[in-house]
Amino acid sequence: MSITRAEALDRTAQHIGEFGFFFDFDGTLSPIQGDPATVPLASGVREAIARLAAVARRVVIVSARPVAFLCQRFGGLPLTLSGMYGLELGTPDGRLVTDPAAERWIPAVDEVTAAARQELAPRGVLVEPKRLSVALHYRTAPQLAGPVEEWARRRAEQTGLRVQPGRMVLELRPPIESDKGTALRPLLSDLSGAWYVGDDVADLRAFDVLAEREREVVGFVAIRAAVTNGSPVDGLADAADFTVAGPDEVGELISAVAARRAPR
Ligand SMILES: [Mg+2]
Repeated sequence: MSITRAEALDRTAQHIGEFGFFFDFDGTLSPIQGDPATVPLASGVREAIARLAAVARRVVIVSARPVAFLCQRFGGLPLTLSGMYGLELGTPDGRLVTDPAAERWIPAVDEVTAAARQELAPRGVLVEPKRLSVALHYRTAPQLAGPVEEWARRRAEQTGLRVQPGRMVLELRPPIESDKGTALRPLLSDLSGAWYVGDDVADLRAFDVLAEREREVVGFVAIRAAVTNGSPVDGLADAADFTVAGPDEVGELISAVAARRAPR
């Protein structure tokens, strides 16, 4: 069942204190740009998120990024930071919890990171180490999509790491069942409704988990928004209730949601 943006705002306003709000980071709260290390939040997003956190049950950033990176953007706000697809969790009171099964893979990640720096970085691939994984960005060299994919698959076979595709990026990460859906699931149990806003293929898993929750729990309100950024990824807009043009508009949307209720 799909609902419009106006209906979503109405249904949320009635019970916002029982709602959770889940946001992807890259391309959703921050613009897509060449260097992933320096991306800023879109204008107004931090302020809007702060207002939302004051009225909602829970505000969560669900990202492939490490919690340490998310902390730099959102430090000081009472948010839940789900990093590395939930393998790391930063709690609103500032604790960091790491999945012990993922920690064991750090040596393999280090090995692949060193190899990528030697073999891929000189060809124009941006190698981003993330402690529990390594991301290989080819946004600035799109012709390398095929070779990077082949390189990553070979390294995955050698080390036991798993390849996770994204938008102009491949990530090598521990072979642990974790994605945006598993990151989301444990954070839904005390909510009567949830929003998920995302722009990438990985976000489809979160949409799926919200749909499951909607089927399992009578009355649960699931709201899915797809950020299109000019060229939506396959299937995401179809799976969403409505679309949002880009991160600036996400900021406006968050402000609109938060404005429906005064801070408690
Ligand atoms: Mg994204």
